Amino acid sequence: MSDFPVLSQLIDRFGRVVSYLRVSITDRCDFRCVYCMAEDMVFLPRKQILSLEEIQFICQAFTELGVSKIRITGGEPLVRKGALELMQQIGRLPGVRELVMTSNGSQLAQMAHDLSAAGVKRINISLDTLDPVLFKVLTRTGDLENVLKGINVASEAGFQRIKLNAVILKNRNHHEVCELVQFAVDRGLDISFIEEMPLGAVDSHNRAEAYYPSHLIRQDLQQRFTLQAVPDKTGGPSDYFLVQGTGSKVGFISPHSANFCSSCNRVRLTAEGRLLLCLGNEHSVDLKAVVRQNPGDMTILKQAIIDAMQIKPEKHEFNIHEQPVILRHMNATGG
Ligand code: SAM
Ligand code: SF4
Repeated sequence: MSDFPVLSQLIDRFGRVVSYLRVSITDRCDFRCVYCMAEDMVFLPRKQILSLEEIQFICQAFTELGVSKIRITGGEPLVRKGALELMQQIGRLPGVRELVMTSNGSQLAQMAHDLSAAGVKRINISLDTLDPVLFKVLTRTGDLENVLKGINVASEAGFQRIKLNAVILKNRNHHEVCELVQFAVDRGLDISFIEEMPLGAVDSHNRAEAYYPSHLIRQDLQQRFTLQAVPDKTGGPSDYFLVQGTGSKVGFISPHSANFCSSCNRVRLTAEGRLLLCLGNEHSVDLKAVVRQNPGDMTILKQAIIDAMQIKPEKHEFNIHEQPVILRHMNATGG
């Protein structure tokens, strides 16, 4: 916690205060999850992505504009060389109250303790199935045992909270939702179920056919658990429930509902330095160009960010039944 005085706030045309920045520090990943990427992904050349120094500089600008929560994501953030040092630097920025990250878990067995020591407070770990064969099918290259080891090490590493994230696809892993909740409950973790979003073209399945809505997951869970609604509004598309008799929460992330847009408090920085004003729209500002054309000029960068608030859209435009209008994949977006 810092006593940095907030001199200004980022406010958009609809009066929403932006206090949360999600940063994709790389588009690369050691997995190729079927809902996130095509099998033969072409990644960005190194010079096209922000350097670690540029990311830190942009994060500093945001914190000076009142952003207090930063999530480091990707791609897989931990496959980028220097990720740990970057998080140490961001954790030390005055104004950062919550430094959190999202990971696929593949590097956590080695890195969880260092991340916690670097100031990462909470961590989200993706886990879609407990079946090693299905895990390989869904991630194409992932190893379940390694990820489970990462979750165990992370559980002992002193994070305030660990949340699992599971993307649920009909006829792939929808039958496992109760087992996944039981896994979380047994370890004192939270878990969120995510509806697949139509970001970028994928080649492994038809997204409309694989759509398994949150309300069905909830019905499935209620066969085995009692879920008590909790008013845990994060400004995001999640509804949270306490699993009765346990300390674990279950979240449902339903991006196809636009109910949450009116309280949206977040923007995203892509690995290439594009500031995305909404996950489900292409409205963006090229902050890489701003920092490269005006090296070290914090005033110009902050003005560009303030101006960007004017184009934050009112709500997203997702439609699972149409071809994706959003051509970028989730790994480039920073989920
Ligand atoms: N590699 C890390 C991971 O998998 O946790 C961080 C980046 S990943 C893009 C962040 C989250 O987005 C993961 O929980 C992943 O399951 C989710 N995700 C990826 N593609 C998605 C899609 N098309 N729809 C919904 N969620 C998606
Ligand atoms: Fe990698 Fe995460 Fe995308 Fe899976 S969801 S391919 S782990 S970035």
